[in-house]
Parts: sequence; structure tokens; C-alpha cells
Amino acid sequence: GLEGEADDPASMKPRPPIVTIMGHVDHGKTSLLDALRSTDVVSGEAGGITQHIGAYQVQLKSGQKITFLDTPGHSAFTAMRARGANATDIAILVVAADDSVMPQTIESINHAKAAGVPLIIAVNKIDLHDAQPEKVLTDLLQHDIQVESMGGSTQAVQVSAKSRIGLDELTDAITLQAELLELAANPDRAADGVVIESQLDKGRGPVATILVNRGTLKRGDIVVAGAQWGKVRAITDERGQQLADAGPSLPVEVLGLDGAPDPGEPFVVVDTEARAREITEYRVRNKRQVSGKAGAA
Ligand code: GDP
Repeated sequence: GLEGEADDPASMKPRPPIVTIMGHVDHGKTSLLDALRSTDVVSGEAGGITQHIGAYQVQLKSGQKITFLDTPGHSAFTAMRARGANATDIAILVVAADDSVMPQTIESINHAKAAGVPLIIAVNKIDLHDAQPEKVLTDLLQHDIQVESMGGSTQAVQVSAKSRIGLDELTDAITLQAELLELAANPDRAADGVVIESQLDKGRGPVATILVNRGTLKRGDIVVAGAQWGKVRAITDERGQQLADAGPSLPVEVLGLDGAPDPGEPFVVVDTEARAREITEYRVRNKRQVSGKAGAA
């Protein structure tokens, strides 16, 4: 089928974790994403101009890499889950220390639980004079989140996105959680993965940001994503650099698709253009039937 054959355990190589940041509105998701982005040692060196492509990867001083989905809130997460795509290894739950657990905090916990994704608690805004980090941890108990300081197994880190406190501790926590998950993928096979976001660019045509789950995506590959397909014409990273290929967990922009696939749509590399056409035509037909427009076509 489309999923291809299972990978030989010997072919598996460690891959960076893919992390989503969730939490209640105004608790600091965007601020934390911005702060974490600046922990990247590579872009620091290059003085890199970065563009928003829906996900970014940082390299820590230790050499460890972490991929962050740069879509605050859980809309992308929910969209992916609805399509059965598994694009998140670890979820960071941001809870503001002055506000504690709020409705979207609880929603986020439920989403992560349903997806079986481990949580790391980031108690944010600890710079505020009315911060009550201990209250946050106690309140979380009511939602079955037991942090390590309370005898549980969930990691919690106190941070301030604004004052840049606790960022190293947070990336350490992510690294530790990633080690526990033993994340690995076979890089030496045809790629598959998930679409993070897409757009129709006036100059460049359809542009899709994708994350490779397994394998390595190469320029010239024939890709099917939802009802779209195309030959990969260019692969670009978030610094705007042209790449010849992209391996597991690296977010990249891809040019060459014949349309903009929906976020959360899985993609696969296929052998021939004929096969790509066959799959997408079948999907387009199916969509029409589902939406009851088959007669109009
Ligand atoms: P989001 O809605 O969860 O993405 O939250 P934002 O990142 O937009 O932050 C909401 C507000 O909280 C903004 O005014 C931020 O400046 C502020 N904020 C975020 N992090 C901190 C922090 O660590 N300390 C303080 N004092 N304010 C913060």
C-alpha cells in the first residue's frame, strides 16, 4: 500500500523530536516559541534571516536538534490528528503562573492525552510578582498531571519567555523526554511525512511546508500530498537556503506541487508520474462523491 514496507530495525537512525507548544490564549505560546528559536546555535552563527514556514529546527550547544511546530495553539495539531497524521512527539503545555489552569489548558491536556503524546509543563511568566508556580502544579493534579516534584513522572520547568529564564532547562527536559522515546527513523528510503502548512505564492506557485517522518526527500522526487502531486523542484529551509534533500524531522518548503495541500495531509513519494496521477485522480473522485457533487462533475 501507500505506507510502504516496514523498516528493518538495523536501518533506524536517531531523529530529532518534533515538539508542539499548547496552552491557553495569552499564556505565552508565541513568546516562548520566539524565545526558543533564539537558542539555535546555527542561526546565531550565520546571523540567519529566518522566514516563517510553520516549523523550525534549533540546534542546541550539545549538538542535539529539536524541531518546533511554529503554529501556536492546537489548530494544526487537531487538524493533523483528524487526518490521522502523527506529527508531534512531545507537547509543551504552557501555563501562565499568574493565571494557572484555564479552559484551553484543559483542552490541551485532553488533546495530548488522546494522541498519546507526552507532555512537558512550562510554567511561564515566573518573572511576574504575582506568579504562583506551586499553585499551577497543584491545580494540574486535578487533571491527572502529576509532576516530578509531586511524585509523578511529568517534567515541569519554570520559565519566563519574556525575561528568558529557564530556556536551557526546558530544552534539557525536551532532550530527556526525546531520549526516553528513543525516536528513530530510516533515512535511506523514499520519504513520507506530513504537510504543516501551504500557500499559493504569486511568484513561486504552490508552496508547502512539510515534515519528513521517514526517509529522505530529494529534489526530483514525485510527491503525492492529499489530492495534489508534483515533481519536487526546490527544497528550501527556513533560512531560505536551497537543499538537495531533507531527512527525518527537518521542516522544509517544497516547490513543485500542482496545488496547495491542506495542513495535516500526509505525503508520500511514489515511483512514477502515472502512479501519482492515479492516486490523486482517485482522491479527487472520492472527494466529489463525499461532498455529493459527483453528478455535477
Ligand atoms: P499566546 O496567546 O499564548 O501565544 O501568548 P503570547 O506569547 O502572545 O503572550 C501573551 C502576553 O503575555 C503578551 O503580552 C506577552 O508579552 C506576555 N508574556 C509572554 N510571556 C511572558 C513572560 O514570561 N512574562 C511576562 N511578564 N509576560 C509574558
